Amino acid sequence: MRQSWWLCLCLAFLGAAWACAETEVPRTVVEVSVSGPEQIATLDRLGLSLDWVKNGVARGLITKSGVETLRAAGFDPKVIYWDFREENPEAWLIPGYYHSYAAMGAALDSIQRAYPAIAHLDTLGFSIQNRAIWGLRITLNPTGGKRGKPKYNINGDHHGNELIGGEAALAYAKYLTSNYAGNSLVRRLVDESDVWVVPMVNPDGREANTRGNSRGADINRDYGYEWNNTEGVSEPGPFGEPEIRAMRNLFMKGPYVASMDFHSGTMYTLYVWGFTTMAAMDSAGMRRVGQIYNTYFPVGYGQIARDLYQVWGGSTDYYYGCGGDIISFAAELSNSYAPPASAIDTICARQISALIPMMQETRKGLWGMVRDSITHQALPARLVVANHGWSCYTDPEYGDYHKYLYPSAGTDTVTAYANGYDPKTLQVTVGADTFAQLNFDLRANAASNYTGFTCPIIRSTRTPSVPADLPWTQKCLGIHDGQGLALSHSSVTPYIALDMGPTTPVINRTGNDFTVYLTAAASYTVQATNNMDGTWANCGSGSGTQQSFDLTTAGLDSARYVRITGTVSLDAVEALPRPSGVEESPRVEGQVSVAPSLVLLGPNPAKEGLVIKATLPAGWSRLAVYDITGHLVKMLNQATLPAGSSQIFAWNGVDDSGRKVTSGTYFARLETPQGNRLVRVVLLR
Ligand SMILES: [Zn+2]
Repeated sequence: MRQSWWLCLCLAFLGAAWACAETEVPRTVVEVSVSGPEQIATLDRLGLSLDWVKNGVARGLITKSGVETLRAAGFDPKVIYWDFREENPEAWLIPGYYHSYAAMGAALDSIQRAYPAIAHLDTLGFSIQNRAIWGLRITLNPTGGKRGKPKYNINGDHHGNELIGGEAALAYAKYLTSNYAGNSLVRRLVDESDVWVVPMVNPDGREANTRGNSRGADINRDYGYEWNNTEGVSEPGPFGEPEIRAMRNLFMKGPYVASMDFHSGTMYTLYVWGFTTMAAMDSAGMRRVGQIYNTYFPVGYGQIARDLYQVWGGSTDYYYGCGGDIISFAAELSNSYAPPASAIDTICARQISALIPMMQETRKGLWGMVRDSITHQALPARLVVANHGWSCYTDPEYGDYHKYLYPSAGTDTVTAYANGYDPKTLQVTVGADTFAQLNFDLRANAASNYTGFTCPIIRSTRTPSVPADLPWTQKCLGIHDGQGLALSHSSVTPYIALDMGPTTPVINRTGNDFTVYLTAAASYTVQATNNMDGTWANCGSGSGTQQSFDLTTAGLDSARYVRITGTVSLDAVEALPRPSGVEESPRVEGQVSVAPSLVLLGPNPAKEGLVIKATLPAGWSRLAVYDITGHLVKMLNQATLPAGSSQIFAWNGVDDSGRKVTSGTYFARLETPQGNRLVRVVLLR
């Protein structure tokens, strides 16, 4: 009785309070009849955030004044709720009905305290209003690093008003941890996987009951793959929202085998692509996992751009487009953003029952390691399975890859590519409903050019339209081969940025450093950077089908990312290989008086690690990283090398036991018979 009296009082105030505050926050739910894609695009421009489009009706959120704007533009919007919180007011008013931001933090913390051997709470980044974005890592020995385990990402609340999404992610974390001791299947999945649960990607929106973040941006339009500046995300480019930079930085530590974003507002399970209605190269596998998910969550499944609406810059397209993660899924859990309390447990239980078989299924296919054949050092590598779609990638730190294959029975031809190494092709037979292990030991080749490794950023409104277009951005990775990715845009100049790889930036040497290949002559500009979120330095403009550029023009010693702006058909970006000792420091027969040198390449402060160029004198030398107290952190090299050999060494920010080091000052020291050299670097995580 007491509670319902209190609730009535709240509800009485509700209308007045919600009506006068924040009138320009889009919380009005409307349904609008639409005749086709052009009208949907118009609604988007008029400020409607779409939840779904079906049977000629679009439903979404708009501001109160936006309802009039739609009418003025000739639409006939039907208001379902003037404020979506009217549907189930208790959800937004009663503390504890849904987890608030603070309650979510406490819940995640209590999991890590109850299960320290398998759960560890990490802060992935901070929102605009400085709220931590939490990631709960669930795996055996969660602070001791990862060794060859497939990585998963389960998240919620990209949209801050879709409350049930965060609850489902949290419920999954609770399920995995609390059943670890007593359920052998859960135990095996936790032992053998690396699961990241991020229940509140958008904590500011969650606290304010808004779809967007605190400046009104739909952050699930801010990922770099087919970014198109829709729904309020930041110009001048993608990853402008700090919440998405946090998600991207987690992803860049190693691709996912499968990811699941929880949403609400309709009921459906969705997979890539969102930016185009053309099927993805791995669509057979996506459909297969959609079918399995649908067995446990039977609401239908399909491709985002076909079955929901076209989405630019969404998370799923980025995970697949940039990382080759075939099972990049989103599930719409309920027609209500905040279903009533009585439904929460049932909805979450259903997702748990579907996620477990999804994880089991995605462990089928191909697993393996890619390493240097001599040193056995893990390599950042790209793998292509012939006739089986998109490239997949190794974890840059541990060298393991995991590719879900469906249909899986048969013999496959697999090629591994790593900059600075000869590619290697192997054959493997993968049985149905199982996995095969295939390792690659690659031979270093100092003469092979570095090429584009992956594509983290592309802006082009041209979408694949014929089967030959399906490889899309894959066409501009690797060496030039006459296959081009044609860019165009309806309103701005299109652009694309290639990542040359985490340890193989373009290096500035004497003369030109890299070459841009097009399949048809065109004019364009080129920029480069080591930090996607920092300044892009100009390298000049190009024309024709092949032109070389010098990083000196940009004032850079090295550059991990190269961006090309123009209506071009990009075939490849190729950089000269790491400097050979001969060219950098001419070696004269019989003369061994080469002075040792140590040069830091890349940014300082650094975020992930360091790239160092060492020129070595004859004889034994040793290169290692030390912390500020002089303790050895990581041995990078100790060997006898020919005089004058100049080599690039990369330190990935982990110590000799495989643990990530904390932020701070570190020294790289080169010790040689001719003297020692030191460079100081600051690591800011
Ligand atoms: Zn959503």
